[in-house]
Amino acid sequence: MSFEYLKTHIMEVNEDIRRICERLGRNPDDVTFIGVTKTYEPEIINASIEYGITDIAENRVQEITRKFDDIVYKVRWHLIGHLQTNKVKYIIDKVDLIHSVDSVKLAEEIQSRASKIEKVQDVLIQVNVANEIQKYGIPKTDLPEVLEALSKMPNIRVCGLMNIAPLVDDPELLRNDFREMKKLFDSLSTYSYSNVTPIHLSMGMSGDYEIALEEGSNMIRIGTKIYGERMATKI
Ligand SMILES: *Cc1c(COP(=O)(O)O)cnc(C)c1O
Repeated sequence: MSFEYLKTHIMEVNEDIRRICERLGRNPDDVTFIGVTKTYEPEIINASIEYGITDIAENRVQEITRKFDDIVYKVRWHLIGHLQTNKVKYIIDKVDLIHSVDSVKLAEEIQSRASKIEKVQDVLIQVNVANEIQKYGIPKTDLPEVLEALSKMPNIRVCGLMNIAPLVDDPELLRNDFREMKKLFDSLSTYSYSNVTPIHLSMGMSGDYEIALEEGSNMIRIGTKIYGERMATKI
């Protein structure tokens, strides 16, 4: 089977990032572009890595454990979906960055499991800044107390923030949320906790990454624009 289309799509996204960054006076090398591989089989994922994907993201624990051994290349693995406390043990030795820390209880379990394997786990805190009621993510007003709690966990390093934008017809409607996230991200540098190092602001997907980059994102998560439409039932 030919996966030439992946090569084209990946080139298009890279070109786009370069064009957008040039317009914004930003360095495109500062933007991490993650391929969101949920629902796609290892064969396709491996091909995309051959064409330049360096980071892959899954939203479910069981997708990571199912595919992990079949991804034959060295890549960075990201977990971007909700993580249940009782599933941390399955992925703690596999993922480079957990984007979806949304409670102190979850962080405690990550701390405990990471400590057992002598790992410092990089995480992002998922924040819900949208006005609509979303299922996951902490409200921004909780950020100080969550950071304080996590600052006492030596096997966790807080590397930044993550946001999942609500589904809207017009991505322009998300600009204010992205702006709000950037402000919160910038505020991380005012904390003096030794395990809080603001590096990544993870926001922007296939439909809205241009606006996310305009508002300061440096980590974008691209699924359909690379891999094509997913089967709705499998998301
Ligand atoms: C599926 C998913 C994406 C990618 O979405 P696309 O619109 O296909 O680019 C990004 N982030 C999260 C959290 C996702 O679940």
